[in-house]
Amino acid sequence: MSGQSGKTRGINTQLAHSGHDPRSFHGFVNPPVVHASTVLFPDYDTYAARNQRYIYGTHGTPTTDALADALNELEGSAGTVLAPSGLAAITVPLLGFVSAGDHVLIVDSVYFPTRRFADTMLKRLGVEIEYYDPLIGADIKKLMKPNTSVVFTESPGSSTFEVQDIPAISRVAHERGAIVMMDNTWATPLYFRALDYGVDVVIHAATKYMNGHSDVLFGTMSANEAAWPRLQEAFFTLGACPSPDDTYQVLRGLRTLGVRLAHQEKAALDIARWLEQQPGVARVLHPALESFPGHDLWKRDFKGASGLFAFVLDGGGVDKARAFLNALQIFGLGSSWGGYESLAQRANLDARTVAKAPPEGAVIRLQIGLENIEDLMEDLQLGLTAAAKV
Ligand SMILES: *Cc1c(COP(=O)(O)O)cnc(C)c1O
Repeated sequence: MSGQSGKTRGINTQLAHSGHDPRSFHGFVNPPVVHASTVLFPDYDTYAARNQRYIYGTHGTPTTDALADALNELEGSAGTVLAPSGLAAITVPLLGFVSAGDHVLIVDSVYFPTRRFADTMLKRLGVEIEYYDPLIGADIKKLMKPNTSVVFTESPGSSTFEVQDIPAISRVAHERGAIVMMDNTWATPLYFRALDYGVDVVIHAATKYMNGHSDVLFGTMSANEAAWPRLQEAFFTLGACPSPDDTYQVLRGLRTLGVRLAHQEKAALDIARWLEQQPGVARVLHPALESFPGHDLWKRDFKGASGLFAFVLDGGGVDKARAFLNALQIFGLGSSWGGYESLAQRANLDARTVAKAPPEGAVIRLQIGLENIEDLMEDLQLGLTAAAKV
């Protein structure tokens, strides 16, 4: 474990050493992959009291502990539980913290499947759902009701990257007795330590940057002291736990997260700046660009920007988007992000009710991978040339 000396080390040092003490398992630098359902107890009384460190596979193993410990160190959290997908890491805490008759505020720029879960299952269970403007800040107090139990945030917003004032929103939520959950997949704990800014439960689709290789589905949920008991109870009650192999792979991915993100941050920003200069591009939606409306908030709160951003094509609607995407040779056309390979897609923003789609044209979301930047620019140039002909 790191931290024996009590002093905070650099982030890449933390990533290389957190979560597993080699001396705890014969000196092997990596933790064992424990495949488990049954755990045996030495005698009746120990079993009756469940009085030992591990009790059953769904409740955790040395493998899940290694990853959870690493994340607690990165997040500054009291506890972390793991889920078999990013979406499950969203539904587990929501089910754990809301009751029939509650009012829940969700940011309108939220990841679409979160919205679908809220609009279908949570509504059916008797929860009132209301979407708020991502730029609302402290004015969220106007939407708070006596029965508001959860404010669910995601910043920057999915596909359009609106930056939220998380400290202001958290302050208001706490004054009114609500708890704050945040989908922090974009920034990772490296670029935004959500609990330090007032969030109670921070969620990551580890499918994205943490795993980083487009081959594992995984989610994480980390809570502060106050929210941890209820989060852990929800996790135990729902039984949605990840496989040991996937858990191991995410911990493996975490070791290189810092160097991957540093490359992707620089590459994405270079490409975003270049795109701003290109004809056929109406606007670039990237929080680290000075031209972006949420830039000041991003600069105040975030330590960096990851490699996912979007731009708006200048006119032409879906037809221009189709021409652009079909012309690309390196960028793959598909969902997800955070892997080593670049992806492009048209963002569908039809479900939005408050934070409407940009009026100029189609929104193209880019995931910048680990390829050479010049090759990616050349590829995007092919797309822009094709789009210009529509
Ligand atoms: C992809 C994604 C998720 C869900 O992750 P899965 O592992 O694909 O279920 C959640 N939130 C955000 C912001 C995402 O981009």
